[in-house]
Amino acid sequence: MGRNTSTEEGSPIAPRDRNVTFERGTDFLVPYERANINRCKCPQCPVQADSQCAQDKIRSSKEALENLSEGQVPNPDDFPGVYCSIGEARCQDLDPDKQCICGSCEVWKEFDLKDANPNNHFCHNGRAT
Ligand code: SF4
Ligand code: SF4
Repeated sequence: MGRNTSTEEGSPIAPRDRNVTFERGTDFLVPYERANINRCKCPQCPVQADSQCAQDKIRSSKEALENLSEGQVPNPDDFPGVYCSIGEARCQDLDPDKQCICGSCEVWKEFDLKDANPNNHFCHNGRAT
């Protein structure tokens, strides 16, 4: 339930296009899709609060999302969140000692990520499987 196995895409879209398709693995639990980006709490997380890199991406991805049509997704390298789907953060200056707020996220609840491995700090521990 909640798993999305029907959206496997063919070849990725050319890099010039912002609507980059994220390649999904067979153990993929959470799809990298707009509905999950919209619900992700990572941009409000204390772990990212003092990261210049993450804060810059939060600002720029907010603008990018406004310009994308509904259903389009930003390049995962440019969005500082949905780490449960895309895996470890690209930014290196996060503070994993701060508390993860994934437990308050509707995506976490929908996909029962409490039972995933890892089940928190996906930005540090990698995506949920
Ligand atoms: S579970 Fe965590 S990483 Fe995944 S979308 Fe929610 S806040 Fe973001
Ligand atoms: S995965 Fe958890 S710890 Fe990392 S930024 Fe998202 S909410 Fe914070």
